[in-house]
Amino acid sequence: MDRIIDGKAIAAQLRRDIGEEAARLKERGITPGLAVVLVGEDPASRVYVSMKEKACAQAGIFSDEHKLPAETGQEELLELIAALNRDDRIDGILVQLPLPPHIDESIVLEAISPKKDVDGFHPYNVGRLVTGNPLFQPCTPYGIMKMLEVSGVDLSGKEVVVVGRSNIVGKPVALMCLAKHATVTLCHSRTRDLAGQVGRADVLIAAVGRPEMIKGEWIKEGAVVIDVGVNRVGEKKLVGDVEFEAACSRAAAITPVPGGVGPMTITMLLHNTVESARRRAAQT
Ligand code: NDP
Repeated sequence: MDRIIDGKAIAAQLRRDIGEEAARLKERGITPGLAVVLVGEDPASRVYVSMKEKACAQAGIFSDEHKLPAETGQEELLELIAALNRDDRIDGILVQLPLPPHIDESIVLEAISPKKDVDGFHPYNVGRLVTGNPLFQPCTPYGIMKMLEVSGVDLSGKEVVVVGRSNIVGKPVALMCLAKHATVTLCHSRTRDLAGQVGRADVLIAAVGRPEMIKGEWIKEGAVVIDVGVNRVGEKKLVGDVEFEAACSRAAAITPVPGGVGPMTITMLLHNTVESARRRAAQT
């Protein structure tokens, strides 16, 4: 196993495979389609949406963009989602979060058909993940699992420590590791002796959002470290949640920031969209 887990390279290979699958589906008359809905002007969301559109174009996925003004009402948004649910050209629907404060995020996410919920945030898909029978898995944790798989990390019987319990990263990745037969510890802001918990990890997954809060000296010799955190320090520099240099000398393998988990997230969105199109093809 390489010491640096190269998310960029893994994502590039997966995107080639996804592009080939999209081309095969196209030959059968099914073009995978992703609807991307953005409400408002949030600059970070705009960047993410344009990255998703570009990635779709590169993979041969049709992307249907809906950029709505910030004052769009909840009913209008729900009507658009209902129309996209009915639209046969659309295999996946992504509503970029966060939504403006006057819109109830959970109502909107639940309005997306679970069969087109390529972000995996609908309670139906969350329930399928919890019960060990996933339909769509959320993209960042799914990307982490792909990285571990490609890097040859067998989780069976291993101690996995996840730091962070969000619905989009910490909780789902903990469930996915459990499904791979790891013994999982889920840590958060009230965890006592975080250093001690981290020190037991054969595989550490950090998803906190605090620059380098996990110290290299806490990490067990030979551990695999997945750093999900993306933290801007100063004008341009991005760092993860783990003290990278110090962790490098102890870890058997580690993901860098940037170039680790980041490129995997959009890749898994493309994967889920093509998978959804494949299900459509199987029905026709
Ligand atoms: P959230 O803010 O939703 O969750 C952060 C979690 O960290 C919470 O569970 C919180 O605990 C926990 N936490 C906060 N402080 C501490 C502490 N001192 N000790 C232990 N745990 C603590 O973050 P997200 O899950 O959305 O994102 C986490 C990071 O991952 C961010 O940097 C984000 O930018 C990045 N990210 C990267 C993605 C990518 O594609 N690369 C995608 C998604 C996220 P509590 O629940 O108790 O408050």
